[in-house]
Amino acid sequence: MKLTVPDYISSITPYSPGKPLEELEREYGVRDSIKLASNENPLGPSPMAAAAIANALKDLNRYPDAGGYYLIRDISERLGIKPANVVLGNGSDEILGMLTQAFLSPGSEVIMPKPSFLMYDILVRSAGAKAIYVPLRSLSIDMVAMADRVTDSTRMVFLTNPNNPTGTIISKEDFQRFLGATPASTIVVIDEAYIEFVRDASCLNSMEFFSEDRALVILRTFSKAYGLAGLRIGYGIMPIQIAELLHRIRLPFNANSLAQVGALAALRDEDFLRQSVNLVHEGLDFMAGALDDLAMEHFPTQANFFLINTHRPADGVFERMLRQGVIVRSMSSYGYPEYIRVNVGLHKENVRFMETIEAAI
Ligand SMILES: *Cc1c(COP(=O)(O)O)cnc(C)c1O
Repeated sequence: MKLTVPDYISSITPYSPGKPLEELEREYGVRDSIKLASNENPLGPSPMAAAAIANALKDLNRYPDAGGYYLIRDISERLGIKPANVVLGNGSDEILGMLTQAFLSPGSEVIMPKPSFLMYDILVRSAGAKAIYVPLRSLSIDMVAMADRVTDSTRMVFLTNPNNPTGTIISKEDFQRFLGATPASTIVVIDEAYIEFVRDASCLNSMEFFSEDRALVILRTFSKAYGLAGLRIGYGIMPIQIAELLHRIRLPFNANSLAQVGALAALRDEDFLRQSVNLVHEGLDFMAGALDDLAMEHFPTQANFFLINTHRPADGVFERMLRQGVIVRSMSSYGYPEYIRVNVGLHKENVRFMETIEAAI
C-alpha cells in the first residue's frame, strides 16, 4: 500500500533500542553480563518505592489519579513552588514530547547542542521543525554560541545540565549571560536528568532563575539517581501559563498509578538517594584513577558516566566488550566514532569493566 506521510516523519532515524540482555547473552554465549550502557542505578530501585508499588498492586483495576495530586504536592513543596508549576510525564521524555507538540510547527527553529541527548532531535523532527545544531566546545555546551544563534524565529532551546554524553555542566555565569541574550518568551528547556550527581559548586542551580515571567522549563526524572527507569516517570517545572498549555494535549493517565506511588516513595527515601549518589561518586573516583593508570583518555564528568576516547573504532571496542559480557555504549551514533560511554556500576562491575576494556583495546 502507498501511505501518505510527511517527509519530515519518514526521514527520522528511529531510536535504536538494542536487544534484551537475555537475548544478547544467548547470542554471544556469555553469562552474568553487566549493563553499563544506559546510566541506570546499579543498586536497583529504592526499597521504599518497591514496597509502595507492591502495596498498590491491589488497586490496578482503577484508573490512576489523572491529576497526580500527591506526587505533585510533594515535588512542589520540596521545590518551594506551586503544584500548578509541575507537570508529570511518562518519563521526562514525554514532557519533551509535550513541549515540542505544543510549541513547534513546521518551520519553527530549535537550537540544541550537538552531540546531546538523541531524543531532542527526534522530537523536533517529528514536529516538522528545524533543528539548529551548536557544536560543543571542549566537550561543553557553548553557551555563547548558543546565544548567538537565537533569532526572532527561535521557538525553543535545549540545554542539558549535566550534558549527555559528555558529563559537562553549565555554569551559573554562562547561563545568566545566555538568558540575558534570549527573549523571555523563547522556551528554554533545561534537562537535568543527572543533576543529583553534580559535585562542582560552580554548577548552575536553575531554580534560582525560575519565574512566572520567563519561559524556562526544568526537566527532572526518576530514571537515574532514583533507580526507577523501568517505571517511566519524570516531571517538568514550568510557569503556570506553559503548564496549562501542556495540560491541553497531555493524555489524562500518562503517569500510571504504580509510577505515581513509586516516585512518591522514592522521593521520600532520602537514605537510598544518598547511598546511590555516594556509590556513584566512589565509582567515578575509582574509575578515573584506573583509567589514568591505563593512560586512557577520559573527560571530567559531573554525571554518573564517563566518555572515553578509545582511539580506535568504538563499534569494534563495543563488540569485543560485549563478547566478554560487558555492555557499554558506542558513541558512533552521537558522531564520536572512537568514543564509548560507560556508566558507573557496583564496585565489582567497575573492576570488571576495567579488566575488560584493557583487553578490548
Ligand atoms: C536518561 C535521560 C533522560 C531521562 O529520560 P526519562 O524519559 O525520564 O527516562 C532525559 N534526558 C537525558 C539527557 C537523559 O540522559
